This record gives sequence, structure tokens and C-alpha cells, in this order.
Amino acid sequence: DIMGSSKTALVTGSSRGIGRAIAQRLAAQGALVAVHYAGNADAARETVESIENDGGRAFSVQAELGAPGGVHQLFLGLEQGLKERTGDTRLDILVNNAGTTTPDGVTPEDVTPEDFDRLFAVNAKAPFFIVQRALPLLPIGGRIVNISSGLTRFANPDQAAYAMTKGAIEQLTLHFARYLAPRGITVNSVAPGITNNGSALFDIPEAVEQMAQLSAFKRVGEAGDVADVVAFLATDEARWITGSFVDATGGTLLG
Ligand code: NDP
Repeated sequence: DIMGSSKTALVTGSSRGIGRAIAQRLAAQGALVAVHYAGNADAARETVESIENDGGRAFSVQAELGAPGGVHQLFLGLEQGLKERTGDTRLDILVNNAGTTTPDGVTPEDVTPEDFDRLFAVNAKAPFFIVQRALPLLPIGGRIVNISSGLTRFANPDQAAYAMTKGAIEQLTLHFARYLAPRGITVNSVAPGITNNGSALFDIPEAVEQMAQLSAFKRVGEAGDVADVVAFLATDEARWITGSFVDATGGTLLG
């Protein structure tokens, strides 16, 4: 490892959107970043290439979360990638970012038990077992950041089931913050508001204008707005913040 003491990070769902920006920020801070994705290999490669073009270090790892064996596959790829590049499997920073939402236009009446199970499997169950599996890899002073949502505090009935999964990940933060404090590991939740993740919705000016009104700053968030917050929580300087809910909604929760 020519960088000596450089940190290592796993960002789930960093092929695109907020996760990509988080991976880029952590790499810019000097971390070797595992760029995890589910199916979008080209997008994951673009994330890795953008990091390398900026002089950083990254590698990609494929795993379908919510599917049987998904977390195991993630850690096989992670541990192999880390070992090849650093000689061991130490993981300093874990960001549980991968997530899925209720599709637009699905009302509370339409949500099926299968939809509900899938949301919980990807957004809540997978992060729990990712943290569990990461426990032996995290050093003293390690960092865990769980990506929640402003929807745990801002009612949107069409996203009720999704918001329930985010309530669950905030519980993961609370209880593991206590559990890991003796090791100097911090665990925090970061809640984005409406954030441009590059999806087609953000190409429609009228839709963007409408969404922008929800923020106190009257614009939609950029992925980098959220990533900067996550990147700070991952630093040594954030050592005194644990178990917290960090509102990264651009003031949407001010009402
Ligand atoms: P995107 O939809 O843009 O990207 C999702 C990422 O997660 C992709 O990298 C995708 O991989 C990966 N992913 C999705 N499902 C799975 C799965 N089953 N297994 C493994 N990987 C998966 O997400 P956003 O950037 O919009 O959101 C990131 C996080 O922020 C999520 O937790 C989301 O709930 C939260 N959030 C987002 C908000 C927003 O407005 N954008 C608002 C509030 C919270 P692949 O590319 O391979 O499909």
C-alpha cells in the first residue's frame, strides 16, 4: 500500500446518484473506495474511472441486495478487493446508501405485500446484515453512515412503506451507535431531501421547479450537497458526533 495509512471505504449503491457523489468525495479525501452496484456495471465503471481520473483509488463490487446471499457476495468482493490493494481487509468507513423507493404513482392502496417485503429487504434488512458483517473489519475510530430520508419527518402517504424502511435504518443508527462507541466507531444517519440523482424526472423543468419549492433554499439538492455532509461525518474531526440524525434536506423540514 503506497499510500501507507490511507483509509478504506465501502459505499453501497455508488454506481450513480448520491452514492456516486459520496464515493467521489471520500476518494478525494484519500480513501480507497469500494464502489458497490446491483446491475448497472457501466455506471459503476464510470464512477471508478471518474475517481481514478482525479487521482483517487477505487474498485467496483457487484451484489444484489435483497436477494439471497447478496450481503455475502458483497463482502466476498469487498474483502478480495481490499486484500489485493492493501494487504488486509480493514474497512474504515461504511456508507449504507443503496436504496429503492415505491415507484411514482403507486398509492398506499396499491402497495402489495411483495413490494413491501422488497423495500424492507433492500433498505432495512440488508443494511443491518452489512453492519453485522462489517463488525470484524471496522478498526478503532471507524465510521458508519446510514442514508435515511427527510420522509421520516415529512409526511408523504405515497411513500409510507418506503418511509417505514427509513425509520428502521434510523433505529440501526441509534442502537449500533451505543454498541460501537467503546471502539470509537461513530454511527450516524443522514437524511436527504429531494436530491437530483440524475434520473429522468430531473430533466423536466416544471417538475424540478415544483420540487424546489419544498426546500427553504428553493432549489432541489444536488448529490454533492448530501455527499459533503457524509464525507464530513467520515472524518476524524466528526469523532464527537454519534447516534445523530443529520438533516441534509436543505431546510425542507423547517416547514
Ligand atoms: P439512485 O436510485 O440514483 O441509485 C440507487 C443506487 O443503489 C444505485 O447505485 C443502485 O445500483 C443501487 N441499488 C438499488 N437497489 C439495489 C439493490 N437491490 N441491491 C444493490 N444495489 C442497489 O439512488 P439515490 O441517489 O436517489 O438515493 C441514494 C439513497 O438516498 C437511497 O438510500 C435513497 O433512499 C436515499 N434518498 C434519496 C433521495 C433523493 O431525492 N434522491 C431523497 C431521500 C433519500 P445500480 O446502479 O446497479 O442499479
